[in-house]
Amino acid sequence: MSAEQSPTSLPFDAARIAKAVRQRLQSLQRSGITSIRSPNASQTDLSSLQNQLANMEQNRLPTASRSKNEVLCEDERVKAEDHVGEVAPKQIPPASVPTPSLTLNISRETAVMPSKKQSELDIVCQEVANCTACTELASTRAHTVFGVGNPNARLVFYGEAPGAEEDKQGEPFVGRAGKLLNKIIEAMGLTRDEIYILNTIKCRPPGNRNPTPDEQQNCADFLKRQLEIIQPEYIVCLGAIASHSFLECKTPIGKMRGQFFDKNGIKVLCTFHPAYLLRDPRRKRDVWDDIQFLMKDMGLTVPKNSEGVT
Ligand code: SF4
Repeated sequence: MSAEQSPTSLPFDAARIAKAVRQRLQSLQRSGITSIRSPNASQTDLSSLQNQLANMEQNRLPTASRSKNEVLCEDERVKAEDHVGEVAPKQIPPASVPTPSLTLNISRETAVMPSKKQSELDIVCQEVANCTACTELASTRAHTVFGVGNPNARLVFYGEAPGAEEDKQGEPFVGRAGKLLNKIIEAMGLTRDEIYILNTIKCRPPGNRNPTPDEQQNCADFLKRQLEIIQPEYIVCLGAIASHSFLECKTPIGKMRGQFFDKNGIKVLCTFHPAYLLRDPRRKRDVWDDIQFLMKDMGLTVPKNSEGVT
């Protein structure tokens, strides 16, 4: 029986939707959800649903057997989704990026319970709360700002340093820039509970000055341990300081955005900091381009008629 005759073969769109649904189920599973309630009120196991969807994806019609019209429609749809023009995926890692000295031991365990990871993060968080390695920061902070989100997140947003509001609340990205980051996350079809957010350092530099290299170095081991526990697939570095600190380079942020860098198996994307977008809203379009590039690689669907980062 040929692929076209097979009753289980799917057109391209259906296979693509199956992939997107399966990846969303994976995300839920990583959040600790193991089953969902189906319309007839019975509980359905997420693993078995994912297996069914994977089988559907494998049975998609090969390109050669699709009609000319189907192929044309697909081309048109891809163009329509990229409302700001083609975002071409680029190779990782680019030759210009040095090998970072911060080496992460990322082992892709699939069955680590979120509660176990949370317990491990809680231990690091307690150490951070007691840390006085940076004398000035430890004496001026109101709270340490450890990080927040899902311990099993696929995606981590990595910012610069806590500001006044973050210092007050002990949580990253809760000020004006944080509200804009929330909009970016929502535009991706995600919530803060599905991702993880952290900064280069855990204490606010007085007067919102940039963190010094020594302060970043002092805090590097906490970051390393957080990432080794979370094991994200993707990290988005927000702004030049986070990008340069994480990838240990000095390349201007404008030249780093729009591509993935590899760091110990993690795909790293650099883009502008939300605080910069508040100062120069014209850059929102660039950030939305970067986010769409990320979403495509993550298998997330860009919502139709999405206005992106507004
Ligand atoms: S910034 Fe990091 S290393 Fe420095 S005092 Fe705060 S927790 Fe410790």
